[in-house]
Amino acid sequence: MLRTSVRALVLSSVVGVAGCVHTSEGVAKALVSDEQEAQLGAQVKQELDKQGTKYIQDPEIVNYVRGVAQKIFVSADKDRPGVKWQVYVIDDPKQVNAFATPGGYLYVFSGLLLAADNEAQLAGVWGHEAGHVVARHSARQMVDAMGLETVIGVALGQNPNQLAELAATLAAKGALLSYSRQDETEADEYGARYSAQARYAPQGIIQFFEKLKKMEGEQPAFAKYLSDHPATEDRIKHLQEYISEKHLSGTVLGAERLQPVKQRLMAQAHATGVKPATPN
Ligand SMILES: [Zn+2]
Repeated sequence: MLRTSVRALVLSSVVGVAGCVHTSEGVAKALVSDEQEAQLGAQVKQELDKQGTKYIQDPEIVNYVRGVAQKIFVSADKDRPGVKWQVYVIDDPKQVNAFATPGGYLYVFSGLLLAADNEAQLAGVWGHEAGHVVARHSARQMVDAMGLETVIGVALGQNPNQLAELAATLAAKGALLSYSRQDETEADEYGARYSAQARYAPQGIIQFFEKLKKMEGEQPAFAKYLSDHPATEDRIKHLQEYISEKHLSGTVLGAERLQPVKQRLMAQAHATGVKPATPN
């Protein structure tokens, strides 16, 4: 009873303020504060650590990856100021994937770095992941994972345990937590736009999708980043149209900068006896 009335009150006040917020993710976006997102992101990180996630520590690799992300954050910060971005490289050469959690925590698996051909492709991936954060897509994810009731409860601070519970759920699902078709398309657009604003060839993300698509039949690890809907074909087509429509341009590919990083990763993978997912 009390719960229902609180929820009704929340809903009516949100609609009152925003005018036309009807959807559940709209409610969540309006309710989940930056501070709560940051707290949630920190808790997910803690959960990942608890699960024994291994991170690459080599400063040459980590600084390189953070440097590329930093160029993307210049644009992302204009769209959503105040995010305290954090970038981690997960030591798993067999996983070709990357993901973002609330609060601006971005994770990339070392397998994705090995699969990329150049820096523009990595920049495209970072632009995509940063786009999920900028557009607050995690709110919708949270509603899907936990239900609107719980997210509102967390937002209102009714039950501090719920935040920990939510973080555990997000960490457990990790990269498998999927976004909606609409959110993925929007994030792809951010990926191309932020890349171009950092002078990278905005086609980098398309190149990366094409490469994964070509290789996914041969090695299942490549299918991971593409397991998100919509279909890869449609994503590529939409990106091509978007880039030409918005007149996005950039020329930097940076293959020569990624190459030594890949070599370091390969050497480390071989030293530990792990066969990376990528043959090159
Ligand atoms: Zn995505």
